[in-house]
Amino acid sequence: MGLKVCKFGGTSMADGSTIQRGAAIVKSDAERRYVVVSAPGKRFSGDIKVTDLLYQCADALEAGEQAAFKTTFDKIRVRFLNIETELGKDIGMQAGLDRVEAEMLAGAGRDYCASRGEYFAGLIMAAVLDIPFVDATEFIRFDKDGVLDSVTFELGAQVLSQYKSAVIPGFYGLGADGKVKTFSRGGGDISGSIVARAVSATLYENWTDVSGFYACDPRIVTSPRWISELTYQELRELSYMGANVLHSESIFPVRSAGIPIRICNTFRPEDAGTYIVKRSTRDVGETVVTGVAGKKGFTSITLEKSMMNLEVGFVGKVLSVIGKYGISFEHLPSGIDTMSLVIDNEFLKDGILEVLMAEMQEAVHPDRIYAHEDIALVATVGHGMAKNVGTSARLFKALSDAHINVNMIDQGSSELNIIVGVESADCAACIQAIYNEFFN
Ligand code: ASP
Repeated sequence: MGLKVCKFGGTSMADGSTIQRGAAIVKSDAERRYVVVSAPGKRFSGDIKVTDLLYQCADALEAGEQAAFKTTFDKIRVRFLNIETELGKDIGMQAGLDRVEAEMLAGAGRDYCASRGEYFAGLIMAAVLDIPFVDATEFIRFDKDGVLDSVTFELGAQVLSQYKSAVIPGFYGLGADGKVKTFSRGGGDISGSIVARAVSATLYENWTDVSGFYACDPRIVTSPRWISELTYQELRELSYMGANVLHSESIFPVRSAGIPIRICNTFRPEDAGTYIVKRSTRDVGETVVTGVAGKKGFTSITLEKSMMNLEVGFVGKVLSVIGKYGISFEHLPSGIDTMSLVIDNEFLKDGILEVLMAEMQEAVHPDRIYAHEDIALVATVGHGMAKNVGTSARLFKALSDAHINVNMIDQGSSELNIIVGVESADCAACIQAIYNEFFN
C-alpha cells in the first residue's frame, strides 16, 4: 500500500468550505495519511493573505505602533473565528488567538508572527480530520546559518512514526536559537517535501488552485500546453524562473529519495495534474522544449578588457567585490575579452550598483564597464534540447523575427536550458515568441 503526503496551499485553506473540500480529498483515499497546510490565502482578488497580515503585525510591532498592530491582528482574529463558525466546530480559536497575541506583544519576533497562520490552519485541519496535530518545531530544524539541518529527516521519521496520520503546519521549524524560524515565502511546499521524505512517502501530492504546470504563463499565452510530466531539474529551472506553482527549493528533500511530486487542483480533483519525477518517461524526441518562464528585476554588469583571457585572477577579483557585500550572482556569461555578472536587483538598492562598479573599476581596471539595469531573464527549459540539433538556432531566429534584442545569453552546461537576458519591457513578447516557435 502506498503512503501519500498531501500539502494544501493557501487558496485551499482560505475559508471553511475550501477546508472541507481539502478534508474530503484526504478522506477519499486511505493512503493520504500526513497533511501539511499553508495559512489561509486569498478568498477573492483584492483579499489579503493571512501571512501578509501577520507580516504587517510584525512591522507594526517593530515600529512600536501598537494601535496598528491591534487593528491588523483583529482582522486575523475575525478570519479565523469565521472559519471556526463556518466549520461549526469548537476548535478553541478565541483562546488560542489571545495567547498568540500576547506572545507577539511580549516580543516573540518576526518569524514567530509570520508562522502563526500555518499554526492555526494546522489546528483547524487536524480538528476537521479528527487526527493529531504535530507541530513542525518538533522535527524541522535549522542550523545556526539558517539552513535546514539534515537532522530534520531522522527526527521527522522518529516523531511522525508515532502517528498513523497527522497534520503538520507548513512554512516553519525551529532555529538554532530555539525560536520559531520560517522558510522563504511559499515555503510550505518545502515543509511538505520534508514530511514526504521523513515518512518515506510513495507520493507527495501538492494541492493548489491550478491543475499543474503549463508550458508557459497563461497570463502571457492563452491556454498554453499543459505539462503532464516534468523532471526535478526541469521543475527547479522553471520554478526558479518564475513559474509560480511550486517553491523552487521544494524538490531537494524528495529528490534524493526519488519520491515523485504530483501537482493537483483542489477545485478540480479529477484532473490528472503534473507529475514531477526523477527521469522523464516521455520520449525526448517528442518534445524539444518542456517549458518557457521569465523573471524580471535583474541587472547585468559587463566588463570589457583586451586580453582578459590571459589575466590570471580577473574573474576572482570581480567576484570578491560582490562577495564583500554579501551579494550572490545569478549568471556569469563570459567571452575572451568580456564578462558579465547578472545580479538580482534586490541586492542593488540604495546606490550599491554604483559602489560595486567603482570598486570593480579599481580592482581590475577594465577598458569599459557598464550596466543594463532593467533586464528580464527568460529560460527555455527541456531535456529534449540536448538531443535535438538546431534548438538554439530556432530560438534565436524566433527572437530576431520578433525584433527582440538579446543582451545576454547563457546556456547551462547540462544543455537543459538556454537563458536569455532581454529588456524587461520585452519579457512577455520574448516568452510568446519562444512558445510559438516550439509549441505552435
Ligand atoms: N503562508 C506562507 C506564504 O504565504 C507560506 C506558504 O503559503 O507556503 O508565503
